[in-house]
Amino acid sequence: MALPEHCDRCPAVARVRAELPFGELLFCTHHARAHEDRLRTLGARLRIPATAPPLPPVRSRRSHDPAVPR
Ligand SMILES: [Zn+2]
Repeated sequence: MALPEHCDRCPAVARVRAELPFGELLFCTHHARAHEDRLRTLGARLRIPATAPPLPPVRSRRSHDPAVPR
């Protein structure tokens, strides 16, 4: 039985599991995004644990511009 896992950086429920060469880290949505670039640099694979609710859609840096040129 899987218990809710918590972010390694704060008490929030973890929604992202980062698989690193030296182990795993768990992050909430906020911290996963905050550390995503560094984690990817380290070769992390980001996974969403089955016990976690789905992530809300990630807005890309471009998507806040509503005027998409055609
Ligand atoms: Zn956190």
